[in-house]
Amino acid sequence: MNGDKTVENGRTIAAISTAQAPGGIGIIRISGSDAKTIASRVFVPAGSHSVMETPGYHALYGTVFDAEGKRIDEAIALIFTAPKSFTGEDVVELSCHGGMYVLKQLLATVFAAGAAPADPGEFTRRAFLNGKMDLTRAEAVMQMISAQGESAARAAAEGNGGALARRIQKIRSRLVASAAHLSAWADYPEDEVPEITSDDLLSDLNFALSECQTLLSQFDAGRALREGVKTVIVGRPNVGKSTLMNLLAGCERSIVTEYAGTTRDVVEEVVLVGGIPLCLADTAGIRTTADPVEQIGVDRAKKRLESAQLVFAVFDSSENLEKEDLDLIQSIGSLPAIAVINKVDLPQVIDINCIKKHFKYLVYISAETGEGFSALESAVSDILNTNHLNPSEGMLYTERQRDAVRRAEICLEEAKTAVLAEMTFDAVTVSVEGAISAFLELTGERVSETVVDEVFSKFCVGK
Ligand code: GDP
Repeated sequence: MNGDKTVENGRTIAAISTAQAPGGIGIIRISGSDAKTIASRVFVPAGSHSVMETPGYHALYGTVFDAEGKRIDEAIALIFTAPKSFTGEDVVELSCHGGMYVLKQLLATVFAAGAAPADPGEFTRRAFLNGKMDLTRAEAVMQMISAQGESAARAAAEGNGGALARRIQKIRSRLVASAAHLSAWADYPEDEVPEITSDDLLSDLNFALSECQTLLSQFDAGRALREGVKTVIVGRPNVGKSTLMNLLAGCERSIVTEYAGTTRDVVEEVVLVGGIPLCLADTAGIRTTADPVEQIGVDRAKKRLESAQLVFAVFDSSENLEKEDLDLIQSIGSLPAIAVINKVDLPQVIDINCIKKHFKYLVYISAETGEGFSALESAVSDILNTNHLNPSEGMLYTERQRDAVRRAEICLEEAKTAVLAEMTFDAVTVSVEGAISAFLELTGERVSETVVDEVFSKFCVGK
């Protein structure tokens, strides 16, 4: 693609751009050179202005009719004129009532009037091809749609605003300056090109390397924000696991009783703790039981624990530690875990030093009163390393982006080794150019069709 942006003017496309579910309002987006003509065939304005003559950023009120001239619904046509639209093409968005029947009927009429069904992500793909956004912003659009938590949405919004692209651009421009200087010096040794020193080169390489390392080291924490963290609540019966789950979920999701062994299955819920989505599983206490139904729950709990990314190990601070508590500590092993010392509203009996020996993170709470909840939130962001993330500085969101930065990092390491080994500057140039190329791929300025297809295949239709 080498940066030569081609406008896909061939087909005018249409799709339902709002969720595929009943809603107050539903929107059909039409994009392409025939967007206005097609919209005029299905939409009749109430006033005297026609769709064709209405300038961009204007809306018309009217009615949409099907191919037989039957009224479908009243609607608003929002008109955008190329290149000032999301896709960079002429766009008309028809908003009507959000019932799925109405929307599907209108979409079929729009197709009959000449539009082609949009492929998944095709609107955003056209925006990318028309130079409206780089590839990292296009990926951020997708992250924004799927963002579950506040932090994830903020990270995606920053990406959409171009924070990552700006950060990459800054690294790249220093490398481009170095590479240009190296080539000029190698190609025109007799001219007055000042000699580049190893120190200058190393300073640029070290800057770029440290940026790559920071981006890579924040990737996992960023993923926690985006995708959520598989979290398991464990503890022997009656320590307050279900009560904790309910506190986190803010509703009565698990059955809370005073009898041991009532949570027989794994109860799941996505909750936000400190802005991070946790996919929580409250499990049947991991213990030996003669009850076959409870045993199924216990087995599932063990399985969940094996795949957990975070464990809340709950202890009842109003009682002594029991063998079951100690067995549980053993089964957690080296998983990232927070010891939740529950029932602090009751007189304290537990041997806290024993717990401190096994857990780096320890919080005191009362799941019943909510006391200590903010300490739990801080412990979660500490353990997941999310507290120092600053999305406005730019973060990596996708495996594709991480892979590109990894490749850049390898090239930069090679360049640095070449400088330190006092190899020829030619060898350095090759590696620096390798790094620049990886960054160009990251932003989509030099990227193959296959990579672009791959990026947009993950989108849904209508985006
Ligand atoms: P689980 O078996 O571990 O899920 O425990 P439950 O959540 O069912 O709680 C067992 C009992 O402990 C219930 O009677 C809860 O009301 C009580 N409980 C839970 N958390 C607290 C707490 O923080 N303080 C007090 N006083 N009681 C609690």
